Amino acid sequence: MSSPQDSYLAVWKKQCWKCQRIITVVMDITEWRGPHATHSGMWKWDVSPKMIQRLVQNANIQFRKTPDDPDGYFANVCPKCDSVQGDWFLNEDLTRFTYESVPKNLSVLQLKEGEVVRTFSSIPDLEKYRFKGGKPS
Ligand SMILES: [Zn+2]
Repeated sequence: MSSPQDSYLAVWKKQCWKCQRIITVVMDITEWRGPHATHSGMWKWDVSPKMIQRLVQNANIQFRKTPDDPDGYFANVCPKCDSVQGDWFLNEDLTRFTYESVPKNLSVLQLKEGEVVRTFSSIPDLEKYRFKGGKPS
């Protein structure tokens, strides 16, 4: 079984909705439970933007307040045009990765105490590992 302090980060490439540049986005999917999840359960506070910047090349995570979330949250921000990539859209991507084709440029990192201990190449692989016994085959 994976222990509760493990974190899981999904990393993939996405086109910025505003400037169309292809950028790297990261989501904490430690508590992701499928398509109906919202961002509130997604970014754990022990995964800091600094840690992500160290682990994922080209990631750009910033604490932002938006009209939808005036309290603010850790958001993926386009390094070129500074637009917040809404979690709703990222969640849509994750849902697609789970139920439809597996994107070539997705990876999921398993973190233990801030270090990558395992990498998965698809959401279904990850789910198999996490929820069906946890033993790598
Ligand atoms: Zn942009």
